[in-house]
Amino acid sequence: MNRSLNIEAQGLLPTKPDNTYFYPWLLFVVVAFYYWINHESWHSHPAKSTPVPPITPTHPATSLKRYLEILAEEAANQVSARPILDPDNLQDYPLLSKWDISHNVTVFRLGLPQPTDVLGLPSGQHIALAFTDPETGKVVARSYTPISTDDDRGYFDVLVKLYPDGLMSKHLQALQVGDLVKARGPKGAMVYKPGMCERIGMIAGGSGVTPMLQIIKAVLAQRPTDTTQIDLIYANRTFDDIVLKDVLDEMAEKDPGFKVHYVLSQAPENWTGSIGHVTKAMIKERLPPAQAGTKIMLCGPAGMQDSMKIYLEELGFDKARLVPKRDDQVFCF
Ligand SMILES: Cc1cc2nc3c(=O)[nH]c(=O)nc-3n(C[C@H](O)[C@H](O)[C@H](O)COP(=O)(O)OP(=O)(O)OC[C@H]3O[C@@H](n4cnc5c(N)ncnc54)[C@H](O)[C@@H]3O)c2cc1C
Repeated sequence: MNRSLNIEAQGLLPTKPDNTYFYPWLLFVVVAFYYWINHESWHSHPAKSTPVPPITPTHPATSLKRYLEILAEEAANQVSARPILDPDNLQDYPLLSKWDISHNVTVFRLGLPQPTDVLGLPSGQHIALAFTDPETGKVVARSYTPISTDDDRGYFDVLVKLYPDGLMSKHLQALQVGDLVKARGPKGAMVYKPGMCERIGMIAGGSGVTPMLQIIKAVLAQRPTDTTQIDLIYANRTFDDIVLKDVLDEMAEKDPGFKVHYVLSQAPENWTGSIGHVTKAMIKERLPPAQAGTKIMLCGPAGMQDSMKIYLEELGFDKARLVPKRDDQVFCF
C-alpha cells in the first residue's frame, strides 16, 4: 500500500465527495438571503418610489422568483421620470447648493424628492417661488425660469439676479443649504413644441435670458429633427452683467442654426459686439423678417420691452398682446 492510501485508511482524506456540510451551508445562505431582502431598511430605502410589498405566507409573491420580479418591476418604474411640480400647491424643495456666477447673479440648486424625479416643466414655462414675509405677514411670490431642463433628474437650477432692495432677492440670499424653498408651477402661456415655427428671433435683457435659454436648449436637444433657426440679441449694461456667456457661445459654436449677438451699454476695450441699446436697425439686421413661420420672443426690463414692441411693430410684426398667447407672432414672457 502506498503513502496516500495509508492516509485514506486513517480517515484523513475522504474516500468520496462529502455533502455532510454542503447542504446545511446552502440552507443557511438561502435563509440569510431571504432575511436580507425582507429586512425593514430595504423597504424604507429613500430611493424607492413605492414600497416593495412584504412577503407573507398569504402574499401571492411567496416564491423568491416572484419577489425578484417585483424588484425588477419597481426598478423599471423608477427609470421613468416622475414630474413633481404642482400648479395649484406650493411645495417645499430643499436648497442643495448655491453658487455665484457674477457679482449679482446666483444659481440656486433645489432638490426633488427622489434622485430619479424631474421638475416637470414644459419648455417655455416658468415657476413661482414664494415665501411669507415675516415683517408684513404677506406672501411674496416671484416668477423664475429654471435653467435646468427635464433631462436633469433629482434637482433643478434657478438663476437669480439679486437686487439689494428686492424682497425675494433678500430672502433667497439669506438661505442656507438644507433650507426649504416653496415653489409652484408650471405657469405661463408659452409651451414650445418642435415645428411651431421655422425661425425664432429673441431679444433678451439681463436675467431675461433664462426663458430664451430654456427654449434654445429644447430646440438644440431635438436636432436634427427640429430645424428651427434661432437668432438671439442679448443686451446688458456691462460685460460682467452678461450671464451664461460661455454656455451661449458654446451652443452657437456647435450649432450653425443658433446665433447670438451681444449688446452692451458700457463696453470694454476691444469689444466685438454692439455698443449702446438695441435699435430697430439691429433687429432688422440680426433677427428674421416679419413673415409667416417667424416668431419673436421678448424678455427683459419693462422699459426695454416697450421700446422693442414699438420697433417690431414698425418692422411689420403683429402688435404684442398684453396677455400673451402661445401662437402670438410676438411673445412677451
Ligand atoms: C416669466 C418671468 C420669468 C422670470 N425669470 C427670472 C429668472 O429666471 N431669473 C431672475 O433673476 N428673474 C426672473 N424674473 C424676474 C423675477 O420674477 C423678479 O421680478 C426679480 O427677481 C426681482 O424680484 P425681487 O422680489 O427680488 O425684487 P422686487 O422686490 O420685486 O423689486 C425690488 C427692486 O428691484 C429692482 N428690479 C426688480 N426687477 C427688476 C428688473 N427686471 N429690472 C430692473 N430692476 C428690477 C427694482 O429697482 C425694484 O424696485 C422673471 C420674471 C418673469 C415675469
